[in-house]
Amino acid sequence: MIRSSVQALAPYVPGEQPKLKRLVKLNANENAYPPSPKVKEALASFNVASLRLYPDPEFSRLRHKLARYYGCKAENVFVGNGSDEVLRLAIDVFVRNAAPVGVFEPSYSLYPVLAEIREAPLVRVPLPENDAALSALRPPEPRPDLFCLVNPNAPTGTIFGMEAVRAFARTLAPAVLLVDEAYAPFAGRDCLALALEEPNVVVSRTFSKAWSLAGLRVGVLVGPAPLVEALYKVKDSYNVDALAQCVAEAALSDPEWMVANARKIAATRDRFSDALRQKGWSVVQSHTNFVWCQPPEGGKTAAEFQAKVRNWGFLVRRFADPPELANHLRISIGTDAEMDELLGML
Ligand code: PMP
Repeated sequence: MIRSSVQALAPYVPGEQPKLKRLVKLNANENAYPPSPKVKEALASFNVASLRLYPDPEFSRLRHKLARYYGCKAENVFVGNGSDEVLRLAIDVFVRNAAPVGVFEPSYSLYPVLAEIREAPLVRVPLPENDAALSALRPPEPRPDLFCLVNPNAPTGTIFGMEAVRAFARTLAPAVLLVDEAYAPFAGRDCLALALEEPNVVVSRTFSKAWSLAGLRVGVLVGPAPLVEALYKVKDSYNVDALAQCVAEAALSDPEWMVANARKIAATRDRFSDALRQKGWSVVQSHTNFVWCQPPEGGKTAAEFQAKVRNWGFLVRRFADPPELANHLRISIGTDAEMDELLGML
């Protein structure tokens, strides 16, 4: 007996993790640089014998350090097994049975899968063009219990300003607005303040991108204490393992490392975007660690470019569905040398 919605489910497809060596992975928005040396130190001095015990179910130390880092109270912080778990729990907690979930389109392709697992109808709203359009938006019909806004957005890399997001949150209230800020450190600005000022806004973050720890699986949610408390009620008892708590604390002790890498990647991104435009590509101004781009008309298609660069050992991401996205590539930003090599092929 398998639920019919699960039988019919088209699962989320993550960026390919190749088994071959010598491939340059520019397909999953991972960080081009390693995590802080503090991470290596923490792993080297980790007390292995302590692994016989369960981890702190409330990750109290990590939670307090995150609260200090984000300028809030521990009661405003939730930690998950990657931000993907945080997003899944948000749907469990904030969406009533059969109530809709709202998303912009295009945005993160996991949301439709999470909604479908819960058999929640999805309300897709075209991504507003700019801040003015977002501020003027009325709540979609049917009214969602939860709206997920990725900011800066994936896969477009575009960003909305905080006041436009605040205006949208207020029109949605009392429904919850989840602002997925997986890529915010590459933008240099964010909407974290809304999670502490607006009763219906939560912000999710991750250690996977700017902190260079995708393999660790630590995501964070910041929000009003009553909403955060509700997430604690439904999470697995030990959703963040002991090593992950220890390593995340170590990374958090060295934010300068993360910021320096994010700045370096942003500089490479802007240089790569300009060079690609000079080759006739259309490239959306990105505020993330990837670019969303389209090859010049009349030449090779995005699919052909993707296949061509794969032969040279470079993986880039393309979404074949919906058809209007199919002639775009989403290229994660690697090191300067990798991006120069890729430019040569494009
Ligand atoms: N949100 C967005 C917009 C993403 O692109 C990703 C990465 N695929 C995530 C959340 C999830 O990141 P993680 O689970 O690694 O924290």
